[in-house]
Amino acid sequence: MIETKYRTCNLCEALCGLAIEVENNKVLTIKGDKKDVFSRGHICPKAVALKDLHEDPDRLKFPVKKVNGDWEEISWEEAFDTVARRLYEIQQHNGANSVAIYQGNPSVHNLGTSLFSPGFVRLLQTKNRYSATSVDQLGHHLAGEYMFGHMSLVPVPDIIRTDYWLILGGNPLVSNGSLMTAPNVAGKLKDIQKRKGKVVVIDPRRTETAKKADQHLFVRPGTDIWLLLAMIKLILEEDLVKLGHIKPFIASAQLDLLKDLLSELSITEVAGITGIKVESIINLTREFTLANSAVIYGRLGVSANKYGGLCHWAINTINILTNNFDKAGGAMLTNPAVELGKSRPGKKRFRRWKSRVRGLPEFGGELPSSTLAEDMLTPGEGQIKALVTSCGNPVLSVPNGRKLDEAFESLEFYVAIDIYINESTRHADIILPPATGLETPHYGIAFHNLAVHNTAKYSNSSVDKEPGTKYDWEIFSELGAAYEKCVKGPDFESTKYTLTDVFDSLLISGKSGLTLEKLRQHPHGIDLGPLKSVIPNRLKTEDGMINIVPDIYISALKDLLIQKVDAKGLLLIGRRALRSNNSWLHNSYRMVKGPNKCTMLIHPSDAEQRNILNGETVIVQSRVGAEEIEAELSSDMMPGSVSIPHGWGHHRPGIKLKIASVHAGISINDLIDEQVVDALSGVSVINGVPVEVSKKN
Ligand code: SF4
Repeated sequence: MIETKYRTCNLCEALCGLAIEVENNKVLTIKGDKKDVFSRGHICPKAVALKDLHEDPDRLKFPVKKVNGDWEEISWEEAFDTVARRLYEIQQHNGANSVAIYQGNPSVHNLGTSLFSPGFVRLLQTKNRYSATSVDQLGHHLAGEYMFGHMSLVPVPDIIRTDYWLILGGNPLVSNGSLMTAPNVAGKLKDIQKRKGKVVVIDPRRTETAKKADQHLFVRPGTDIWLLLAMIKLILEEDLVKLGHIKPFIASAQLDLLKDLLSELSITEVAGITGIKVESIINLTREFTLANSAVIYGRLGVSANKYGGLCHWAINTINILTNNFDKAGGAMLTNPAVELGKSRPGKKRFRRWKSRVRGLPEFGGELPSSTLAEDMLTPGEGQIKALVTSCGNPVLSVPNGRKLDEAFESLEFYVAIDIYINESTRHADIILPPATGLETPHYGIAFHNLAVHNTAKYSNSSVDKEPGTKYDWEIFSELGAAYEKCVKGPDFESTKYTLTDVFDSLLISGKSGLTLEKLRQHPHGIDLGPLKSVIPNRLKTEDGMINIVPDIYISALKDLLIQKVDAKGLLLIGRRALRSNNSWLHNSYRMVKGPNKCTMLIHPSDAEQRNILNGETVIVQSRVGAEEIEAELSSDMMPGSVSIPHGWGHHRPGIKLKIASVHAGISINDLIDEQVVDALSGVSVINGVPVEVSKKN
């Protein structure tokens, strides 16, 4: 009998509802769920890759152990006992910090890992914790921490109601929204235009989103902060400040301080630095300020450049100064059923410790991932000797992947919780593969906290997992229990919880009145209404105020304002494609088929200067590496910038991904210098990387 199962797609942040036809536990079709209260039937081409992922013959189902370079299947019991004992022994000899953990981006896309990995990480008591967060989004969280009192208080653009959407360094038509959960961004963009609103994109590339926008302005990679500061200066000096209902929560002296800090900034110099004309900067600022509602959304291009931390402070500041914060159509905080960011006011989550070798700051319990390789390779007290990775592929995701490749070889022990033998996990001693995707129940906790409309939806498993396989939450729970036996003795019995126990208690502790039972009665989700004003209730600052000039930003701003900006040479930026999701989906033939997707975009004038023709192989050289790649001439690029997509580079030996290794591409992270970071947040600079490009002889 054919049954239709409803669930939320967990591949990206958009939370699209799926209707999945299943017969005898086999997936027949995957379509958009028209009754889904949030996505209303929208899906992107990636949704069908869930079937490919589910049926992928390269996927591991049971633990494997490397023996003399070959992989052998072992029992779960042996795997847990060996992993727990090795981690414990290494910590006994070298200290707690000798074991590190790296959690990849899918951690927040899996309910089991979201809820059960933190307990396991706490048991390890290591300060060497890393994740994909520090590759591209700490700037958003740092601004939330210092301006609103909690790192999870990241405002989202209310694009459902805005009249003016200014996008910097983001391509939401392709990403489907990032740190902004919004299924069908294309439809929402059209709706803004239908109601006579305006969409403006600022980007070094005329992106897919820019082509649908009303206006696109090229900006030199990495210089967005200058544009944002010029906008703040104009707003302050032209008396365009409107604070609206949040006025009581902003000290007026802060506005004077900000005005004073920017008094010497020259708009003409900003135009020279950014490549955006003076009149365009002035018009943009006035239009934004005069719109009934307006919002700035900044993503990867600004989040992962040299001033990413300052950029997100500046974006929040502009939204605040123009009465576009905590107001319909502006930047808003959400009202999710399971709320992140509930800890007590004043709790410090930044710079509590530093990375061992370079001294980069901890934030939210993690160190920047760009330090992982050096913390493994540099001898001395606290050197990382063992690593746990959970659904992460840092060799492809972290700057200077080749150095990380080398660092993996130096480890005494490496366990990966992952479904594939990929570029990172090929170095592992043991791999623990969880049931995944359609086999798992789901609720997108993090993404409901970032959604442009409040909804709640729980998905049951769509297909049964194979007998004997384990869910991610079972792996963390049982591995944790085995580790606790090592620490506390073989008779110690840890308390056992199930996924549904933990999730239900989280729901009940929220203010929505929802329970798991109620969510299960609504397979298409529950609509909790539009975003609402939450200031001052959600503020977590000690004084209950919004801080628009936190000390750490003042000193970073002073440093920036004395910088000399060098506009020479080519600068590398990343890009993403609709059928690609970081490095996850390249083993699905329907996602990678067709023309080569891993090309370097270069403006024809830059190509001509180097005698490069379309389709030719070129060598891209940075401080840390040189890679060969096909050149694709495109006037969509700003002269002086080149673009390579991320997530590729499946040419390494030993990976067991048949399709991906044929459609290999190169990894942009093999060109990115892990030593160059945003001084404020420690986030790697992956946009605006100086490179030289030459024709391959
Ligand atoms: S947009 Fe994201 S959530 Fe929606 S179907 Fe595509 S991958 Fe899934």
